[in-house]
Amino acid sequence: MKKHLLLLLVFIFTACAYPTIGITHPNSTNPTSPSPTISQSATSGTIEQFKITKDLNPITVRVNVIILEDEKRPKSNFSLNDAEEKSLLKDYFERINLSWSKFYAPSNLTGCYTGSDFYEDSKIRFVFDYITIKDSYAWNYKNSGANLEKKNYAGISPSENWYLAYLDQKIAHDPSVQKGINVYLTMDGDNFDRLYQSKGAGYNLNGIEASQLPSLTKLDRTSSVNVPNRYLKYFYHRYELAKEHQTTWKETRGWHIGDAVGTAHELGHSLGLNHNNQYHQSNACQYSLMSQNWQHARNYLQPTEILKAHKNLRESNLIQFVTEDSFLGNTFTIPSNTHWTKTQRFYSNLMLSDHVELRISEPIIMAPRAAITFGNQSKIIFEKNGKISYPNGKEFANYVNKKSNSIIKN
Ligand SMILES: [Zn+2]
Repeated sequence: MKKHLLLLLVFIFTACAYPTIGITHPNSTNPTSPSPTISQSATSGTIEQFKITKDLNPITVRVNVIILEDEKRPKSNFSLNDAEEKSLLKDYFERINLSWSKFYAPSNLTGCYTGSDFYEDSKIRFVFDYITIKDSYAWNYKNSGANLEKKNYAGISPSENWYLAYLDQKIAHDPSVQKGINVYLTMDGDNFDRLYQSKGAGYNLNGIEASQLPSLTKLDRTSSVNVPNRYLKYFYHRYELAKEHQTTWKETRGWHIGDAVGTAHELGHSLGLNHNNQYHQSNACQYSLMSQNWQHARNYLQPTEILKAHKNLRESNLIQFVTEDSFLGNTFTIPSNTHWTKTQRFYSNLMLSDHVELRISEPIIMAPRAAITFGNQSKIIFEKNGKISYPNGKEFANYVNKKSNSIIKN
């Protein structure tokens, strides 16, 4: 699976930098030598040179927290009408933004990526909508055939044919729901009554969560995360652990919210990250948020992985889930003739260097606040399905230094 993903990434990388053959300009500069119009400041550079800098505005990804209820039980999950439960749920999910905005430099890089670069902030944020759906089949993940205690995970891992695929489609086509990553709060229906009545005493459920990697080929595909038994865990933390450790709910509430690091890890998968990467084996870096070991610090992400997530936010089905106004504020320079043959969404300005031709064959989406600046005698050539629009579908208009012959439609 990972190899397949890497191959696709490599393919897109080469496709994006495809030089136009057969068109030469007498005054064109050698594309390998830096053009004077390319600024070397931190917030300007080619797409391949992209780095996270403090001055960037974060990109915001929408997440729909789907609270599944069993209509046959009076109480079966967090209730948005219960102030205590609602605030707990919100604090839990907001904790994910702390995981993605405040990284700590590892004191020891053994087992990790060993580059000297470090980003404190991914510049990626999540905004959460909370939606309750009554559906007893969906509520009980045992209906998928999975048994977490027996390590049988088939059916509960989000995919195009998992047990909630029908709900993924229903939500995607519901005009009242904004497109976002769907996080389903599911339940072990076989053990619910026992643990609800005991207020978490005898809690023995496996704590696995599961997520879905982004798609680089199906840009309208849904992305989902399964977070089972969180409500039963709430009872366990509130009553059982408080009793066991002779402490208060005030303290164990903090432990409950600390579990959100696990869901922050799952959203890492949603953004295209794995437990391993080209620098280390699975779980080898004890600081990485993408380690599966809950005893690891999990408060760090290596810069290459943060950049991988940003690349997926430009090139995968994740482009559907980013808020309309998201804008990093940096400028990507296009230093040489380029042919874009795939859809991309940019949260940055674009700057065509002098004499550069940018061919665009598939739709490109630009942030409403972004500008596209033409260098001297540079051109954008639209062909096939090529166009540039805003996230709402309206034609992009914010060009700078545009001349009458700057844009050519073939
Ligand atoms: Zn994982």
